[in-house]
Amino acid sequence: MLPLFQNYPGLKEKLPHVPLGNFPTPVQKLERLGEKIGAGRLYIKRDDLSGEIYGGNKVRKLEFILGQAREKRAAEILTFGFAGSNHALATAIYAKETGLRSISMLLPQANAGYVRRNLLMGFQTGAELHYHRNYFAVIWGTLLVLAKHRFRSGRFPMVIPPGGSSTRGIIGFVNAAFELREQVKAGQLPEPDRIYVALGTMGTAAGLILGLRAAGLKSRVIPVRVVDRKYADAGNLARLLRRVNAFLSGLDRSFPRIEYPETDTMIRHDYFGDDYALFTPAGMEAVALMEEREGIKLEGTYTGKALACLIEETERNRGRDQVILFWNTYNSRDFTPLIRGADYHRLPRGFHRYFEDEVQPLDPGYKKDI
Ligand SMILES: *Cc1c(COP(=O)(O)O)cnc(C)c1O
Repeated sequence: MLPLFQNYPGLKEKLPHVPLGNFPTPVQKLERLGEKIGAGRLYIKRDDLSGEIYGGNKVRKLEFILGQAREKRAAEILTFGFAGSNHALATAIYAKETGLRSISMLLPQANAGYVRRNLLMGFQTGAELHYHRNYFAVIWGTLLVLAKHRFRSGRFPMVIPPGGSSTRGIIGFVNAAFELREQVKAGQLPEPDRIYVALGTMGTAAGLILGLRAAGLKSRVIPVRVVDRKYADAGNLARLLRRVNAFLSGLDRSFPRIEYPETDTMIRHDYFGDDYALFTPAGMEAVALMEEREGIKLEGTYTGKALACLIEETERNRGRDQVILFWNTYNSRDFTPLIRGADYHRLPRGFHRYFEDEVQPLDPGYKKDI
């Protein structure tokens, strides 16, 4: 049973949940990276291994989102992201496993090898991919697609917000905090002082902060912002957290209402660089260091930037002997065999440029890419 339900049995019948992944995800000590940066007690939470075909942080969210879809008897789901969106891909893969069709409304982003791979994999999975040039186009495009599907099947697709950060999705990370507490209790790691995690649509951080408080852990979450400030800031993070808190306490009165002032947030803004999905030198150094020292693959859009922050702050605090946990939100399953030979020409025209243009200069993997 899910750790959250074990602690709050009242939530179990009220929150439909579809098991999609492998949980708990392992916790591992990073001896060699820790030694290099002066952290004697550095750990990683391997959410990259959360799913068999595709891991990463979206699997936890989708277990609750697709639970809700099943409850609503939805046949199709529609979601949003940038062209290389891990969320859109994870949704396509797991929706298909659950018997749902998925529709992805995608926006432009900086080019990289993973954008090509994610697009091909999404297409291969059977997702309906739409390219939109800007926000205006995405809004109109969505209304049009919703109307079209309604006309064809008599029902609107269920709409999921970007990053899967709906109330239901975020509960996946409330549960993750209870999962971590079990691992602390079992002696797999000491109670962390700091948990570093990338901050995108904020669902991961909001769920973790709420869950840790409810679980009575004193660990501080350090969210490292990797999207534009207009999407992620202290006020919005606090609002998201309070919304999920009110929802859970409403379903089960024994779920605590926590105080979460906006000033409490530890968001780090200095690792974002110039744009979303534009890799930074510090981020790519962090990616290279993790690969070289621990053999774990990260990437430049989210996890590299978060790890760069962890490294810099740990080196600055040398000698403090804190327990530091890096929450790995990226997928590490290699799905390239599944897209070998796939032809990008079959994708909608707007996506072709990701295959025809160069990738950004800091993308190290581009030579190996399709
Ligand atoms: C989506 C994503 C995140 C961000 O999580 P949010 O809940 O949107 O803040 C972090 N890392 C990776 C690899 C992601 O795909």
